[in-house]
Amino acid sequence: MEPPICALCGVRFDPGAATVRFSDYRPLPDGMVGHPHGLVWFCGAHLEAAEAVAHLPAEEALTTLRSNPPRNPR
Ligand SMILES: [Zn+2]
Repeated sequence: MEPPICALCGVRFDPGAATVRFSDYRPLPDGMVGHPHGLVWFCGAHLEAAEAVAHLPAEEALTTLRSNPPRNPR
């Protein structure tokens, strides 16, 4: 598992950080250690925007989010 670093803004260990599963999410095989494909960390400020595009593959979603940055609610 990767450390909780927001894929959009790079904030580390935000208390509201959580992972989003994108459409290309693939769970790790049993017993395998690592970070699953399509599972991406976002800080609390970007989580909602990320979940709104979770129907896309991770790379496409990140491109969309970066070209159309969500407003920071804080
Ligand atoms: Zn962020």
